Amino acid sequence: MNDGGEAISERTARRSGSGPTSESEAVDAPGVARRLLRGLADVVFPPVCVHCGGLVEGGRLRYVCAPCEPLIHLVHPPHCTTCGSPFFGEVDDEGRMCPHCEGLHPQYGEGRTLTLFKGPARALVHALKYHHGQHVLADIERLVRASSSITDFIRNAVLVPVPLHPRKQRQRTYNQTMLLAEVLAKAAGGTTRVESVLQRVVDTPSQTTFDRKERRANLKNAFALAKGATINPSSPYILVDDVFTTGSTLNSCAGVLRRAGALKLDVVTFGHG
Ligand SMILES: [Zn+2]
Ligand SMILES: [Zn+2]
Repeated sequence: MNDGGEAISERTARRSGSGPTSESEAVDAPGVARRLLRGLADVVFPPVCVHCGGLVEGGRLRYVCAPCEPLIHLVHPPHCTTCGSPFFGEVDDEGRMCPHCEGLHPQYGEGRTLTLFKGPARALVHALKYHHGQHVLADIERLVRASSSITDFIRNAVLVPVPLHPRKQRQRTYNQTMLLAEVLAKAAGGTTRVESVLQRVVDTPSQTTFDRKERRANLKNAFALAKGATINPSSPYILVDDVFTTGSTLNSCAGVLRRAGALKLDVVTFGHG
């Protein structure tokens, strides 16, 4: 992970570095000013780790300190093909579902997850979701780029973020899943793009107090195709959410896309928890 991280920082540095030509100097002047301001901001408000609250010095992430970074568990195969949850130890039966996914009857093909939703990974999403933490997106992007199994999985697909109800989106002013989808598309490159083809039509109450059966009932008809949106049956679609819990939300969205004609349909989440 550290090797990959160093390579990534190098690439990032090269991309943002100013070149020797006068044109790039002119283009990069705002970049220099931004870096100076950021340097100044770091002195006045040093970056603080989203997980432990300690100061972040060195390390490869800006909002997770070096001692906390190894607590981010990037998922590698073998894993459940429906939710992406990793199988630990010996696995003889590739392509099987984990016990949590039995009974889900997924309306989509396969599921992948970038991390286990705990520790600093969970703290990054919480910062993004509840504390206007758009500043952590660069760290999330760095983690996505470190996982070729995720970037390979989503490359050249149409990423569809799970929508918020308009009331909630007005309150929060942004949809964190949309921002996450944009980061995923940027990291994967190719023709990967984001299309908000879904809308949330029912303002469902918080899911946290419901059991699995209640969640499903609660989500029935909660989503619909967005006004004017069309599904191209020859495009590969991938639903994006921040966390895979029971899969009910993603499955409900997948049902809408299937009924609208999506043939190749998978899901990806930032964390599994
Ligand atoms: Zn920390
Ligand atoms: Zn599973």
